[in-house]
Amino acid sequence: MERLWAPWRMEYMMAPQHDSCFLCEAAEAGVDRNHLVLVKREFCLIMLNRYPYVGGHLMVVPLRHTGELDDLDDAEQLDLLHGVRQARAALRRTSAPEGFNIGMNIGKPAGAGLENHLHIHVVPRWNGDTNFMQPVGELRIISEGLKESYDRLRAAIDC
Ligand SMILES: [Zn+2]
Repeated sequence: MERLWAPWRMEYMMAPQHDSCFLCEAAEAGVDRNHLVLVKREFCLIMLNRYPYVGGHLMVVPLRHTGELDDLDDAEQLDLLHGVRQARAALRRTSAPEGFNIGMNIGKPAGAGLENHLHIHVVPRWNGDTNFMQPVGELRIISEGLKESYDRLRAAIDC
């Protein structure tokens, strides 16, 4: 029997599992302006989308790295929905939206920019802002800077 000497395997095994996932990096950072994380809950994060569809575009993100909704247990699912409500309440306080788009893009054909880590988009809407929902994740010019949005929402969100 041949023995395989493969030290690089150990290196591979010891490397951070999801070192290229920016949502995992955000989860690790916790509440942090540079990572745009507003709140870290028991099982999820509330953060600003770095490439917002409109100003105030938030995301609620399970702490666990998975792209599969069925992987989340009941406590994680409940916390996600509470996170959505918390995000929506903060947006109501800061910018009085007249409606919201709340949802997930699962899989590339559905427009997911990041397939491997679930996230729920919470997008504030106003009458007359646009006539239709463009694919979430499209880069647009937003009049308000992300850091300014962060500060306003951070001050308004219940922790
Ligand atoms: Zn991740």
